[in-house]
Amino acid sequence: MTLHIDTPLLESQPLSHALGRRVLLKMDALQPPGSFKIRGIGYACEQHANQGKRRFVSSSGGNAGIAVAYAGRALSIPVTVVVPQSTGERAKDLIRLQGADVIVHGATWQEANAYALEQAGPDDAFIHPFDDPLLWHGHASMIDEVARAGAKFDAVVLSVGGGGLMAGAIEGLRRNGLGNIPVIAVETEGASSLAQSVRAGERIELPGITSVATSLGAKQVCEQAFTLTQTHPVECVVVSDAEAVNASRQFVDDHRVLVEPACGASLALVYRRTEALQRFDSVLVIVCGGAGTTIEQLERWHREMV
Ligand SMILES: *Cc1c(COP(=O)(O)O)cnc(C)c1O
Repeated sequence: MTLHIDTPLLESQPLSHALGRRVLLKMDALQPPGSFKIRGIGYACEQHANQGKRRFVSSSGGNAGIAVAYAGRALSIPVTVVVPQSTGERAKDLIRLQGADVIVHGATWQEANAYALEQAGPDDAFIHPFDDPLLWHGHASMIDEVARAGAKFDAVVLSVGGGGLMAGAIEGLRRNGLGNIPVIAVETEGASSLAQSVRAGERIELPGITSVATSLGAKQVCEQAFTLTQTHPVECVVVSDAEAVNASRQFVDDHRVLVEPACGASLALVYRRTEALQRFDSVLVIVCGGAGTTIEQLERWHREMV
């Protein structure tokens, strides 16, 4: 038993038609807590539980916090999530709905995170949202499932925030003998910490995040993600917020699933004849999901952006 589920792998007619290439969708938006994050976080939480930890502590007001809360409930271990004052009511409600305690502390995520670390005692496990080998190991299961299904693909498109998803997907490719398959790493303008690091030749830190794709809003990617751009074929692509929002809106109509713009960013690349993808026969898109967006919010962004 794992805390994540084996998600559907779909061949998308609307997206294959739009890209002009075969598009496969790994539907991790259908994970019970709403995003792929439960794969790595579920795995990490199980390891910590086996080692006798009595509480999980997180500082993410986003999908990582929701996943930790979900894992804690499933394992009957209490969860505390410390979030900054800027965190929206919906995010706090989603975390509380899983039975976790939410503590609001500090103006920024840095302050909330420092407080969460302070709170974590020796019997507690602190769960990082992206920078942890246990997470990458758990995320890799998404590629195991695709490989087990016998699906053929020659590129992987995925979104990058702090780079945990990418690190996990590449671990999955390598452990399934697919280590030569390129990864197309998608970010939004205003959250492009990986693309800018690759361009600079070193791991840079953004001064701030301006994108609506808040789940991609890590000012700096983890060391592992940057290192992987030097040891694995990784191509960085940056899309606009408007493209990401539009892709999420279109995806609701085409596949009847609501995803955050963080995921829409990856979908945006296959909703048009992206030149960089035309050399592939079959493109696997990780539909990473995200529980943070409502239809109403998506429509509001859309109106503000046109
Ligand atoms: C966390 C998250 C990402 C980015 O994952 P990283 O591991 O931080 O790169 C992308 N999309 C969604 C929906 C997420 O929750």
